[in-house]
Amino acid sequence: MNQPVYLDYNATAPVRRQVAEAVAEALRKTGNASSVHAFGRQARRVIEEARATVADLIGARGGTVVFTSGGTEANNMALRGLAGRRIIVSAGEHDSVLQAAPEAERIPLGTDGWVDLAALERLLDNGAGPVLVSIMAANNETGVCQPVEEAARLVHRVGGLLHCDAVQAAGKVAFSMRDAEVDLLSLSAHKIGGPQGVGALVLRADLEPTPLLVGGGQEGFRRAGTENLPGIAGFAVAAALACRELDRYAELARLRDEIERRLKTEVPALRIYGDEAPRLANTSCFGLPGLKAETQVMALDLEGVAVSAGAACSSGKVRPSHVLQAMGASEAEAASAIRVSLGWDSREADVERFVEAWLRHYQRSRAAA
Ligand code: PLP
Repeated sequence: MNQPVYLDYNATAPVRRQVAEAVAEALRKTGNASSVHAFGRQARRVIEEARATVADLIGARGGTVVFTSGGTEANNMALRGLAGRRIIVSAGEHDSVLQAAPEAERIPLGTDGWVDLAALERLLDNGAGPVLVSIMAANNETGVCQPVEEAARLVHRVGGLLHCDAVQAAGKVAFSMRDAEVDLLSLSAHKIGGPQGVGALVLRADLEPTPLLVGGGQEGFRRAGTENLPGIAGFAVAAALACRELDRYAELARLRDEIERRLKTEVPALRIYGDEAPRLANTSCFGLPGLKAETQVMALDLEGVAVSAGAACSSGKVRPSHVLQAMGASEAEAASAIRVSLGWDSREADVERFVEAWLRHYQRSRAAA
């Protein structure tokens, strides 16, 4: 039996060996980082070193790094912690942004997946009061990278704040919070080979969102609860590895492009989402109306190949993607889209297995139609 092929890195990346070792080492250590004795100080050192390493991942030395339980909590903290502001979000944001601010005004996307900056400008010009805008650095479904720097310029012109969900971009493309002039930024460890259940909200040093969790002075009173020391130790190692391997990451575009070239050659009607915009090197999202996403995912799974249907949903149920619909896809088109996402351990043989399995499924579906 062939080894299974994992092509769902945007859902979660396999944990790096060095990360697993760092987590195991931290688990073996005793000590609460809030304790003043030597054991506590040792735990504190691990956390403070991790803070600096995570800040380096996104060019944010000097900013405040608040460790959280992941990207979802970081997004909630950013959007719910700065109450009293008018909130504007892009239509392609992750549900953890959209549902944290259900009243937010939406910036539409173009058919290429890019946020419509002219529409953002109009929204900014037409409203009053302090504003918070949330635009992701890269989309989890299509990989499309957003013009965050330009958006920051527009937002700052009216004295607003820009939050950026960088969960998918960090460690995959060079990104500097300082250069992009982002005010708040969300991260998650498990998208870059770190452990699940740990992330961070990185803040401009003068910002103080209201904590979501109270009842302890941890994280400078910004997030109560004993820190997830093993998770944070693993996050730091994953962040350091990702920083070091950014150039290698860009090479994944060769594998991704090979998948798209081969599928398009066989099936010219295939729509590849976001291929006209700058995209993460690792992500391909495509669909063909009539071929249901769930059926494709199941057929591929039977062949030992793991991919996602459009938006992977925590309940296991798949809804047609709001991102693809915001890009102009019909419900039927969105319901046919699958996402292939590569990562640090992906190889040419994985591409071969995926392409062959997908084409077999396509031919079988055509024969049955
Ligand atoms: N934001 C984006 C863009 C994501 O892709 C995800 C996870 O899929 C999240 C936020 C949530 O991160 P976490 O799983 O760490 O809560």
